[in-house]
Amino acid sequence: MTHEEVIVRRGRRSGLYVVVAVHSTALGPALGGARLWSYRTPGDGIADAMRLSEAMTYKAAAAGLELGGGKSVICVERGLSIARRRDVMLDLGDAIESLEGRYVVAEDVGTGSDDMAIVAERTSQVVGLPVEQGGSGDPSPVTARGVEAAMRATCERRLGSPELDRIRVCVIGLGHVGSRLAERLADAGARLLVSDIDPGGHELAERLGAEWVDPERAATAECDVLAPCALGGTIDRSNVGELRCSAVCGSANNMLAHESVAGDLHRRGILYAPDFIANAGGLLNVYGELHDLPEERISVLVDGIGPALDAVFAAAERKATTPLEAARELAAARLERARSLERPARLVA
Ligand code: NAD
Repeated sequence: MTHEEVIVRRGRRSGLYVVVAVHSTALGPALGGARLWSYRTPGDGIADAMRLSEAMTYKAAAAGLELGGGKSVICVERGLSIARRRDVMLDLGDAIESLEGRYVVAEDVGTGSDDMAIVAERTSQVVGLPVEQGGSGDPSPVTARGVEAAMRATCERRLGSPELDRIRVCVIGLGHVGSRLAERLADAGARLLVSDIDPGGHELAERLGAEWVDPERAATAECDVLAPCALGGTIDRSNVGELRCSAVCGSANNMLAHESVAGDLHRRGILYAPDFIANAGGLLNVYGELHDLPEERISVLVDGIGPALDAVFAAAERKATTPLEAARELAAARLERARSLERPARLVA
């Protein structure tokens, strides 16, 4: 365990467990989304918050941002009423406020900018507020733009061209990011396969002229690029040997069930774009909100994901290691430099 602090509280209004995990503030305040999810046990929620917050540290460090890594998790039961949802957001706000600026929350799976507006009633350490309230709103369009930039860099390295025209991409998960990524890819001329456990995704598939793939078979569908955009763990030891793609590049956090899967992909000649590099667009978007950056500046930063990823691929080739290992080394070197300067986390006004 390398976390700086982890808060676990039963919300006094909602009675639900709220977890806030601060992995590192070496580079700046720990920023990361609030995930609202139904876990088998509160312990699973704690483990998820800890794993996701560590990934946020690497994501911010690899993107060269003055931010640390954190994540919050709300463990819910099914059928959360509107009143109880409001209560748990206020409970989350209180937990965040107690950290005195060491953690800044944003939206994540299961939460949105309206939830962040409720959290903001109890703490100022919030980004991803609705646009009407001066926030940057839903980050997923920016995340999807960043994944496209990453996919072009991946295709250039693996297939010899950044063009997506006629490239077969299988998008797994048609939620906020996956649906927008699918639209962008369709616009770029890609041949799309799409999948979701929610049959509501059929409508988008039809609109984009995409082939629908059963969720059980999606990870092993034949394609050029597999784009996991659902929850984590899409690629594991049981299916990595069955993959029929040349590259993996999507938005899902922790899309590899185990880090060792990166080695399996490498041995099979499948180029893996590390998730925390490819999906950094959402983080760059809220970073822009935090520092009041103009939209054009944020777009430039997001388009920079392509060259940043290519540098990771180049380093991996040079060192004969996996892109995941190369990206980790890059992030770790930045963290080490920051720690040696002993720079404290700066509070957000
Ligand atoms: P979302 O909840 O809007 O969408 C997830 C989609 O995946 C849903 O449509 C769901 O039905 C589907 N799904 C779940 N399990 C599935 C399965 N086994 N097979 C097929 N489909 C499945 O979430 P989102 O905001 O689009 O985020 C998607 C992923 O990207 C998450 O891992 C998230 O952490 C990551 N991410 C999101 C952002 C962002 O800006 N929203 C930024 C960075 C990373």
